[in-house]
Amino acid sequence: MFASISGPRRPSPPRAARHARRLAVLATAAVALAATGLAVAATPSSAAACNGYVGLTFDDGPTGSTNALLSVLRANNVRATMFNVGQNVQGNPSAARAQVDAGMWVANHSWNHAHMTSMNQSQMQSDLSQTNSAIQSATGVRPQLFRPPYGETNSTLQSVAASLGLRQVIWDVDSQDWNGASVSQIVSNASRLQDGQVILMHDGIQNTRDAIPQIMANLNSRGLCPGMISPSTGRAVAPDGTPPPTTPPPTGSPTTPPPGGGCTATATFPNVWGDRYNTSVTVQGASNWTVVVAVTAPQRINTTWNGTPSWDSTGYVMTMRSNGSGNTFGFTTMMNGNSSARPQIRSCTTG
Ligand SMILES: [Zn+2]
Repeated sequence: MFASISGPRRPSPPRAARHARRLAVLATAAVALAATGLAVAATPSSAAACNGYVGLTFDDGPTGSTNALLSVLRANNVRATMFNVGQNVQGNPSAARAQVDAGMWVANHSWNHAHMTSMNQSQMQSDLSQTNSAIQSATGVRPQLFRPPYGETNSTLQSVAASLGLRQVIWDVDSQDWNGASVSQIVSNASRLQDGQVILMHDGIQNTRDAIPQIMANLNSRGLCPGMISPSTGRAVAPDGTPPPTTPPPTGSPTTPPPGGGCTATATFPNVWGDRYNTSVTVQGASNWTVVVAVTAPQRINTTWNGTPSWDSTGYVMTMRSNGSGNTFGFTTMMNGNSSARPQIRSCTTG
């Protein structure tokens, strides 16, 4: 965010001299992560368990280590807001897509991290629209939040952002990760977060990733849950799609076999969480089968098992073929804000 890692430039790669120490830190973090994972599992982030919400934000991505960040966030049941740099999204659209698939919210952090207050109105307009387009084209999601680089803003920039449907969000707490803060300093800074507040962190910083398990342990101990940032107020609120539905998930009903078909596929939904759910599909009438399944946008399938999947150009229609693992396959779908839709089985054919 600031000078040390300004713009899309990435932090320096780890230095060999630090390698041994970093391994020790990683080992410690892995233990902390495992312990926190259990704690999180014991208190799922449903509304009942949350006294309030905070907005965890990660700026300047996507970077070469976005996937590592997403892994840590997923392992700790964290949904966060990623303020992306448009140029980075254009250069790495699959990483931006991975953010959304992992349940993150994507937002606008300018095209190339310039000092926008020195731009004129039309330059601002062009910068923010180009960034919106890159993010929308990579992820299918139109950003609703904007954070100016360095937190530098003025009334012209705010009105340009507003005209593009973007709510400006600065931060309440600065983790100082951009400034070389240690893991414990980042954790300590995050412990100041109060209900509704937003913290500044960055993609591409190892200490930030290592701090997440402890940040989550602290938030859990205070009944604070990671939330989304409201585009209307700029404050952290309960995520869309949370809490999980209070009514039982719909049970599957057999599909009508297509004319000349030869198998029947039945879907059930054995696991539903706040942000994703599992679908289990059982095929009857064939051991060599092909099942076509469609999900409703913005939902996305992000993991599958016991079959060989392929996808149409939209990414919303999956063709699953038997792979010798039996007659039941499954997949995990990210709700991405739509908690009610469930996949439709379009066909089941033999061969
Ligand atoms: Zn930044």
